[in-house]
Amino acid sequence: MQRTRKCRKWVVIMGLTAMLMTLLSGCGGNAGNKEKTTAADPASRQYYIFDTVVNIKLYEDPKAEEHLDHIDTMLKTLDQELSRTLETSQLYKVNQEAGKQAVEVSEDTMEVLKRSLNYAQETDGLFDPTVGGLVDLWDIGHEGAHVPAPEDLQRELSLVGYKDVVMDEAKQTVFLKRPGMILDLGGIGKGYAADKIAAYLRGEGVKSALVDLGGSSIIVVGSKPNGDSWTVGLQDPDSSRGTIMGNIRLNDQVINTSGIYERYFIEDGVMYHHILDPRTGAPAQNELKSVTILTDNATDADALSTVVYVMGLEKGMEFVENYNEETQALFITKDNKIYATTGLKDTFKVTDEQYSLVE
Ligand code: ADP
Ligand code: MG
Repeated sequence: MQRTRKCRKWVVIMGLTAMLMTLLSGCGGNAGNKEKTTAADPASRQYYIFDTVVNIKLYEDPKAEEHLDHIDTMLKTLDQELSRTLETSQLYKVNQEAGKQAVEVSEDTMEVLKRSLNYAQETDGLFDPTVGGLVDLWDIGHEGAHVPAPEDLQRELSLVGYKDVVMDEAKQTVFLKRPGMILDLGGIGKGYAADKIAAYLRGEGVKSALVDLGGSSIIVVGSKPNGDSWTVGLQDPDSSRGTIMGNIRLNDQVINTSGIYERYFIEDGVMYHHILDPRTGAPAQNELKSVTILTDNATDADALSTVVYVMGLEKGMEFVENYNEETQALFITKDNKIYATTGLKDTFKVTDEQYSLVE
């Protein structure tokens, strides 16, 4: 099951020992409500959305349980809007009506799609929300996943094409021009959800909170209960070791990682993972284990970490350096080297001697 795999999170938040222990202990337990909410004993809840475990912790907040209930409703609504697999979702309906008719969708769905198409334009289609057919074909992370037959790959590849997504802002509709096209928002949905949750918590005046979507998308609200800024520990992407290899202090930033060790299978000695190159239809093959993006919003961070992985080290580095001032990246290569963009070179601290930061 994907859900179990997603428990192998490799981004953990450090700072409060109790919190670190909780996150490192994985996806079990921790789902119940707490009556008191203090620094040592925050109110926390676990949710599932987009096949992902979401953990939220609120510190020293008298209305914590109310907020956690509200977030539950928000996440359920987002699932009904953006899930590709849920048969009652808006996205499912858009996909069903591909080549037939436009489908009316919510403001959220419009917004996520609009931003997806922007990333597609900015990256010449390396980020492409119409990879759904390929995602289904490869079925990475599920039992029985295997390398598809070349003719099946060609068929699904021919159905990828973000330029054939037609959005009508006035009517609030989405139309996929060709029958068989399938939208998939797996590369961006969690980031969008994280931004919505953080915006809600900030609007409610919450002073200290931690939002963790599947371990790959982390957003913090305010500062730690003691007033310090949060420190994020990066776990070795090959998480069988479960050790932290470095850390970064977050100052009103979000962090998102896309790596190849989360969902994959191995066939004939080759590792096939879940980040697809829309030029070939296959998992992107390059020198990277993972890409971590730090920026000021989780939607950017999510989409960019996915697409910068597809670009590989050299092109990805150039892309992020020129993207905007807020956006920074860490690249971890298969030979355990860490490359950082200019703004992160002095702030990322490597703590595991197996890894080295390339100056
Ligand atoms: P995760 O969701 O595991 O944190 P990512 O954010 O990197 O990882 O998203 C990977 C998901 O994005 C895939 O499972 C698939 O749904 C989708 N995807 C894969 N390749 C692309 C791509 N080139 N463009 C847009 N979405 C993609
Ligand atoms: Mg992503």
